[in-house]
Amino acid sequence: MLQPSEEIKSRLDIVDVIRDYIQLQAAGVNFRAKCPFHRENSPSFLVSPDKQIWHCFGCGKGGDIFTFVMEMEGLSFAEALRLLAPKAGVTLKRSDPALASQRNRLLDTMDQAVRYYQEMLARQPEAEVARKYLQKRGLDEDTQNEWQIGYSPDKWEELGDFLKKRGFSENEIFLAGLSVKSQDRPGFYDRFRGRIMFPIRDVNGNTVAFTARVRP
Ligand code: ZN
Repeated sequence: MLQPSEEIKSRLDIVDVIRDYIQLQAAGVNFRAKCPFHRENSPSFLVSPDKQIWHCFGCGKGGDIFTFVMEMEGLSFAEALRLLAPKAGVTLKRSDPALASQRNRLLDTMDQAVRYYQEMLARQPEAEVARKYLQKRGLDEDTQNEWQIGYSPDKWEELGDFLKKRGFSENEIFLAGLSVKSQDRPGFYDRFRGRIMFPIRDVNGNTVAFTARVRP
């Protein structure tokens, strides 16, 4: 049986969903628009009906229908789910809201971590060696964005602090596999440090784990 989010995705076309918000122009097999998330004169925002994803080559944002609606409306994953469900004719069951909301929280945690690592790869001076490494391996910026490749800074609590500021609890961060329990003091520290991060996505495009390359 499909998860509600999977069912919604299978029933909605990303092109229709995004068209409710911005004008799209056909560009080959894709659609193109001026990015709604940053100011630009020439359109670098692309929607792929084949892959059912969107990506802006200007500001680096991208994702699926859920991330688009989340960005556009400032919603959490669970809220975006509730917004899109009726459009897709999907009824969200209330049978196990605790479990469902826990799963959504974990997906949200992972989603934020992906963005954080991407941001670090793009902007941290420390990530220069990682950027060089990826370039040398032939993974240019477009490919890095498409695969949402990131970089975890060589610090102990950066990601944890980032996520906690966004309302995630230590336990949620731990359950998402992003932190490790400290042996010699109370608390947790970041699991991934100084590594190139590759998100592992489920069939639905949700990041469910990371593989971390050894230090570049
Ligand atoms: Zn943009």
